[in-house]
Amino acid sequence: MNTVTGSGECPECFDQVELKDVMQNEIVQCSSCGADLEVTSIDPIKLELAPEEEEDWGE
Ligand SMILES: [Zn+2]
Repeated sequence: MNTVTGSGECPECFDQVELKDVMQNEIVQCSSCGADLEVTSIDPIKLELAPEEEEDWGE
């Protein structure tokens, strides 16, 4: 399972979001604006706004 630690740019507020051991498609929260972000790529790290629907995405 590939995970990555680093930072990516929040598409909402353009701040750098610190990421630790995240997987692709994981949902993270921007510490600056609180937006839910989906890790769409981990190499390089790319973040996109997560869809608001379907909060219950757990397994
Ligand atoms: Zn943000």
